[in-house]
Amino acid sequence: MSGLLYNRKASAALASLGAGGRLPHAILLEGPAGSGKHLAAEIIARYALCTAQEKPCGQCAGCVKVGKRVHPDVRYYGVPEGKKEFPIDLVREIRQDAYIAPNEGTCKIYILEQAHAMNAAAQNALLKSIEEPPPHARFVLLCENRSMLLPTILSRVTAIELEVPSVEQCAQALETLAPDAPEEERRAAAAGAGGNIGRALELLGSAKPSKAAADARQLREILVFGDRYQALKILAAYDKDRQSLLDLLPLLEEGFAQAALARYRRPAAGGQEERLTNRLTCEQAICAAEAAAQAAEQARRNVSVPLLCACMVERIKAAVGG
Ligand SMILES: [Zn+2]
Repeated sequence: MSGLLYNRKASAALASLGAGGRLPHAILLEGPAGSGKHLAAEIIARYALCTAQEKPCGQCAGCVKVGKRVHPDVRYYGVPEGKKEFPIDLVREIRQDAYIAPNEGTCKIYILEQAHAMNAAAQNALLKSIEEPPPHARFVLLCENRSMLLPTILSRVTAIELEVPSVEQCAQALETLAPDAPEEERRAAAAGAGGNIGRALELLGSAKPSKAAADARQLREILVFGDRYQALKILAAYDKDRQSLLDLLPLLEEGFAQAALARYRRPAAGGQEERLTNRLTCEQAICAAEAAAQAAEQARRNVSVPLLCACMVERIKAAVGG
């Protein structure tokens, strides 16, 4: 549940749907990639299949199976790999299956990913199931933009809008979703992913961030205490690896941002970063963080890697007075 807390409006809407104990037959979850549609669909499935009094409890066999995606009464459908459309054959399959009674629960949940990728014929086929649904069937449609769905479909669904969380909200969600990751890496992943929780988890889960985190730490030290040639030497390893550089730069930015924050709050606490924090003024640390952020922006816009690294190093050295 907690992953959706950032999205209070959507959480409230889901809770009110589940409160009466009777979910609508068709729910539309609309929002851009990374807005938590899959998580919301999972919560709906838990409301439907939880066997506890207080739904969804997250602990009963029903909830656990939904979370592991092994509940026999929750079916996922989407655009097959290598295809661009949600095939009408799949819709027909869903319609037939919906008339078969549930296995374990009291209802069957059909989660239709990329529902906007259904052509008109497929949507019309689906419409029949939504208009006269078998009593135990619940349909959850996921789409990025409702304008791609037929008005007849839209008039029969309960729609919930989801928004991409802010970087701050994403970092908060990662506290719960990835408690083992160091805070610095969680914040960098949230920033690197632009708030997209799924992408941020990917960033945290891949091996790259660890190497990137080590390099970012070393770079910060060198940029503040060392000389620019040492810094450029580390960055030269990224000349042909723009993607890894995009993992590194948000970490570098985050490290300086944290230094600025620590300086602002003036804690006397020790720790690895103390030397760096004491050396920089709040403004210097902010300028350095901005230089790293600008470099990341340039890296995304395909500016030459050696060029953007050289510019960043010059800016940071100028900011920190070295
Ligand atoms: Zn439960």
